[in-house]
Amino acid sequence: MRTPVIRLLLLTFSLAALFSESALSIENNHAKNKVQQLQSQALESDLAYELVRSLTVEVGARLPGTEADIKAVAWAEKKLIALGFDKVYKEPVSVKHWSRIQATANIIAPYQHRLVISALGGSVSTPEQGITAPIYLTKSLETLKVASPDDVMGKIVVIYEGMQKHKTGANYGKAVKKRSQGASIAASKGAVAILIRSVGTSNHRLAHTGMVRYQKDAPKIPAAALSSPDADLIEEIVKADKPVTIKLNLQNQFFEDKTSYNVIGEITGCERPHEIVLASAHLDSWDEGTGALDDGAGVGIVTAAAHLIQSKSSCPKRTIRVVLYAAEEIGLLGAKAYLEAHKEELKDHILATESDFGGGPVWQLQTRFAPNKLGFVDELFRALKPLDIERGHNKAYGGPDISVLKNAGVPVLSLYQDGTDYFDYHHTADDTLDKVNSKHLQQNVAAWVTMLHLVANSDFYFREQPSTREDIAHMKNTNKSL
Ligand SMILES: [Zn+2]
Repeated sequence: MRTPVIRLLLLTFSLAALFSESALSIENNHAKNKVQQLQSQALESDLAYELVRSLTVEVGARLPGTEADIKAVAWAEKKLIALGFDKVYKEPVSVKHWSRIQATANIIAPYQHRLVISALGGSVSTPEQGITAPIYLTKSLETLKVASPDDVMGKIVVIYEGMQKHKTGANYGKAVKKRSQGASIAASKGAVAILIRSVGTSNHRLAHTGMVRYQKDAPKIPAAALSSPDADLIEEIVKADKPVTIKLNLQNQFFEDKTSYNVIGEITGCERPHEIVLASAHLDSWDEGTGALDDGAGVGIVTAAAHLIQSKSSCPKRTIRVVLYAAEEIGLLGAKAYLEAHKEELKDHILATESDFGGGPVWQLQTRFAPNKLGFVDELFRALKPLDIERGHNKAYGGPDISVLKNAGVPVLSLYQDGTDYFDYHHTADDTLDKVNSKHLQQNVAAWVTMLHLVANSDFYFREQPSTREDIAHMKNTNKSL
């Protein structure tokens, strides 16, 4: 038989459970309503599109180090201030300044054709009169690696392998190596220049630019990308056993390093302002298009989402920090400068996120949290599901800029976009506003506002080990309440 004391205790426990459950469900309903309200606002808001429109029309292409780059920095500061971010500031980033003057290529034998090319970023110039040489056609970076220097010596190397479309952009990682590494491998075998088939997935007659990386131990040779149909044309001629000669003329300019800026806007947290939820995109772009998809879209999405969370009556528990990085395209220079400037603060970076994959709809949630910290993902996934978003793996890469933070131990999360068409336009003259779908941007903002709201108002930590004593104490309390 139970003693009265035990009975009293049991009653107390069950009442407590009842109260805590009802409190929880009221809280959950409230939280649910808040998420729904934010999502509906996002799905009706034109802010992200308006930001992309303004950036691409009023600034346009913004290659690091150029006047347009500095104009973009001023644009971003002005927009963040106008949108009412609590704190807006910029941090200096030293950037390389390179620009193209002209790029021409012609097949001069056995037939005559003008080729559509684009100099790779950072490429050296040819002599003023250009280079005329027979070509060495090879399929891929791998086949170039095993080519005999006797075959390559004195020639213009042409790599013709294409890239297949994929929703995740999965083939980019492999394809981009021919752009970054091809020149030095060709040069080490005596080549005088290199033309690569564009790292892209469309068959339009435009070339896709992007950085070339010269190795220290090889001569620097001129490097350019060929449009896909022109790579096909060369392949057709070679297939018929006709040797091809090309005249290539690239003229580029190198300037002294310049100062650009990471532009930062914050919505200050009310409870734990030192804890940072970082939402980022990059402000710079290549010079061929107007950088609408890469990465005007990302700038619009993260800025609009953070702005929607701002409210006169309430504020998030944690600080939301929007970082618009400088000089992503030429080697993640803004991201590296951010890491350096915020070293001491890294332990307070709760989560880093990035939007840099164009304007396609978000279709998957990916994370990289400590394996025992996935409880929060269930909650986040439930909130994202109405937006047609699947749950993905826990091996998120995050994005190029925040990979720097990820490597320093900051947890990352990806709202993964459908990138099927992204590499049709990427780094081409076709990366313009008309390719941006305003409805897709709204869906992105709805996903981002959901994620930022839930993370910034959560007590959850996503790292393996808490970094400070207070963190440990806080985590214990947090885990108890979950
Ligand atoms: Zn980008």
